[in-house]
Amino acid sequence: TITKQQILQWLELSAEVFQAEQDFLTDLDREIGDADHGLNMNRGFQKVKDKLPSLADKDIGTILKTTGMTLLSSIGGASGPLYGTFFIRSASSVMAKEELSLAELTQMLQDGVDGIVQRGKAEVGDKTMVDTWDGILACLKEKQGTVMADALDCAVAEAEKAMKGTIPMQAKKGRASYLGERSIGHQDPGATSTYLMFSALRNASV
Ligand code: ADP
Ligand code: MG
Ligand code: MG
Repeated sequence: TITKQQILQWLELSAEVFQAEQDFLTDLDREIGDADHGLNMNRGFQKVKDKLPSLADKDIGTILKTTGMTLLSSIGGASGPLYGTFFIRSASSVMAKEELSLAELTQMLQDGVDGIVQRGKAEVGDKTMVDTWDGILACLKEKQGTVMADALDCAVAEAEKAMKGTIPMQAKKGRASYLGERSIGHQDPGATSTYLMFSALRNASV
């Protein structure tokens, strides 16, 4: 299982990793975007981090929903509404819960990703964060009934593969799509931030 404490730790670790990797993400976005993705993610998650003390006694759904609303109001750009929607929607099946089974965690992430897709209309192969999420969910579904740590390890490995898999793709959504074929050969910033965020979840669960 994943406890509420681990969800809080996930958000804290995400804030840490986005601070540490701010320049890396912004450099990726400089290649095929407007050089602000690292700044966006760091700003948003520092705000989330500020809220964590007030969330310590809340249930998992409330923690996720508050995180989503915080990101929505602090990130801006394309990724703000997308990550904001992810967390808000991910809360829907876990309201009032204090811990999650693998099946519940998978449903939680699936709901969040459904929100990203409904909002952004990206498909797998469009060179976005959806590519990384797709690899993660495929793994978690395949590993239902196994140990949580094994499922998460599989998902982190798939997330990394999917992230790197965006390099040869031509972007079909977002700012990078304006570049057409010139978007080929660069790793997608959002696919990378999703990988970093999911790795933080795995690290919080050990
Ligand atoms: P902006 O492009 O507005 O500056 P960011 O740089 O913060 O926003 O985020 C860019 C990332 O957002 C991209 O790398 C991509 O992964 C993701 N993205 C953009 N548009 C979409 C979309 N329609 N659906 C899913 N992800 C998207
Ligand atoms: Mg950008
Ligand atoms: Mg921008």
